[in-house]
Amino acid sequence: MGYTCRITSECVSCGACEPECPYDCISEDSSNDKYVIDSECCCFDGCGGWSTTPCMEVCPAIAIVRVTCGST
Ligand code: SF4
Ligand code: SF4
Repeated sequence: MGYTCRITSECVSCGACEPECPYDCISEDSSNDKYVIDSECCCFDGCGGWSTTPCMEVCPAIAIVRVTCGST
């Protein structure tokens, strides 16, 4: 079972994570101005098998957490 990332309510909408995703899985959620990760995109192509996750590394609010695929 792989891992994906999820953005929590701690997100301050700085936008830093969006361009860092190599698979374009991150977008702005127009319903609440936060950013959101498409979990299917992130699980399928994502960084679960990597030792680093680019999105998590740049988040100043520590708002990106790792979760098991299928749990979001
Ligand atoms: S873990 Fe990787 S694939 Fe998933 S959103 Fe972050 S940068 Fe993109
Ligand atoms: S880098 Fe963190 S605070 Fe900035 S938009 Fe992404 S999740 Fe939100």
